[in-house]
Amino acid sequence: MSNSSSIDGHKLINNGWFTEISDKHFPGQGLSLKVEEVLHHSQSEFQDILVFRSSTFGNVLVLDGIIQCSERDEFAYQEMISHVPLFAHREPKRVLVIGGGDGGVIREVVKHACVKSVDLVEIDSTVIELSRRYLPHMSCALDNSKVKIHLRDGFQFLRDIGHAQDEEKYDVIITDSSDPDGPAEAFFQKEYFQLLNNALNETGILIAQASENVWLDIAYLSGLMKIARSVFQNTEYCYTTVPTYTSGQLGLIVCAKNEALDLKNPCRMPTPDEQTQLMYYNPEIHFASFILPTWAENLINQSSP
Ligand code: SAM
Repeated sequence: MSNSSSIDGHKLINNGWFTEISDKHFPGQGLSLKVEEVLHHSQSEFQDILVFRSSTFGNVLVLDGIIQCSERDEFAYQEMISHVPLFAHREPKRVLVIGGGDGGVIREVVKHACVKSVDLVEIDSTVIELSRRYLPHMSCALDNSKVKIHLRDGFQFLRDIGHAQDEEKYDVIITDSSDPDGPAEAFFQKEYFQLLNNALNETGILIAQASENVWLDIAYLSGLMKIARSVFQNTEYCYTTVPTYTSGQLGLIVCAKNEALDLKNPCRMPTPDEQTQLMYYNPEIHFASFILPTWAENLINQSSP
């Protein structure tokens, strides 16, 4: 494990600029951030981990060459992936977060007084350690008394709770994973949605980061929506805007067990006190995040099964 501060020591940093490139996911384009200092670089048991201080986006966490979060814009992602399902649920008490070792989603989930317990299932303890050290504003709630951390594979965790009793099932499950190429590959398959279906109680809602948006690979995204719909009839697509994700936005797949549940509108409103703690989410943006440009709406929501 190195804590080198030499800037050009990483294969994706050249002349002081980090560039996120992937011929598979972002062919023909790249996103660059100016690096002030490399804070950490190592290869964990599961992935390549880089943390650097950028000149304008604060500290940045990169896994296997893909940006996971930056201090400046992370709230746009954490708030939407957390509060869309939590405010669409009448009274979420038991929450499961899969991935999410940086702690950003946990910070948002524990803002809901009705939430009594949160299980966080993260495969890589190094991400948690580094987040505590370099992303303190994100990891600040990891020690909250409602939170239990499980250091293991999220897919296996779901398989193991396959026969859980109803009272052990979850009200809300949030998949805050990395992209499909590394240890999170299984999260983009039909079996994963079946396991999620089994782990949710009858009022349950899930949300998963799609690792895609309408500009990058809409055909793949549309296929992922079909996979989710083959398990959950009530499946919707919404998105959040995050400048440090390639193309500036990220899709979120939201599903409910209850076919009649309206996912597009919050059924609880943030109290004035809760709203003051939120920088991106509000009830209007909850609804607006489901509205797509016509071509994307046709491909994602109108195409035949
Ligand atoms: N906001 C991010 C994004 O969309 O790019 C996701 C952030 S969070 C850092 C992703 C986490 O998922 C990582 O810490 C990674 O170790 C974890 N992860 C990947 N595969 C996993 C698995 N199979 N089980 C549990 N956690 C996993």
